[in-house]
Amino acid sequence: MALAIEILPMLSDNYAYLLHEPEAGVTAVVDPAEAAPVTARLAQQQRQLDLILTTHHHGDHTAGNLALKAATGCRVIGAAADRARIPGLDQAVQEGERVMVGKAAGEVMATPGHTSGHISYWFSEAKALFCADTLFSLGCGRLLEGDARQMWASLQKLLALPDDALVYCGHEYTESNARFALTVDPDNPALQARAEEVHRLRAAGRPTIPTTLGLERRTNPFLRPDDPGIRRTLGMTGASDVEVFAEIRQRKDRF
Ligand SMILES: [Zn+2]
Repeated sequence: MALAIEILPMLSDNYAYLLHEPEAGVTAVVDPAEAAPVTARLAQQQRQLDLILTTHHHGDHTAGNLALKAATGCRVIGAAADRARIPGLDQAVQEGERVMVGKAAGEVMATPGHTSGHISYWFSEAKALFCADTLFSLGCGRLLEGDARQMWASLQKLLALPDDALVYCGHEYTESNARFALTVDPDNPALQARAEEVHRLRAAGRPTIPTTLGLERRTNPFLRPDDPGIRRTLGMTGASDVEVFAEIRQRKDRF
């Protein structure tokens, strides 16, 4: 089912996403950090907000929930594991459940690591993945409530999606992520080309999102712990994937 997706920048570097399914006339927003940009855009479009899809409890993804709910009567969907931490939660969901935006179905994927209750939403027909602070373009989320093993398992789950999956993440971090990525994967021509493209996009004030899973597979060091070049750079040729992933994550924390 056709799903129109629009990027709504929030705060300094957050992204919320407006979803509209035209056949049923249903509108949702993913991770509204603020209410005002959402209500302003919907007023322009003369649309009502029906749903909020929350990925995780952090304020820069949920601070708009209560105001939007009060203004529109929309329902809030989020992780059952974060029932006590998501403002205004009406419908608690978990791994494998489906959420409907009109006739468009999104699969709930448990992707813990950044937070213990972090979920992602995969709309297979639109090929749209809303993964917030689990997978970034050229990066991944910080391990605030999980460990490297848990995050690596979450990323592997996302890696099972097709190459043309559109990755809608929670922040515009791509340019600084590219600078870090080049320190661990300096000889990767696909990464070099992506870094240049990202620089051009940001210089023009444009978002680097969505990226695709295929592009991330070729350029994002957090998805490439098995890469021989990265392993050579890190001096970890005999290590396991999760050990290499953990080292890349630690280096990024210090970068
Ligand atoms: Zn977060």
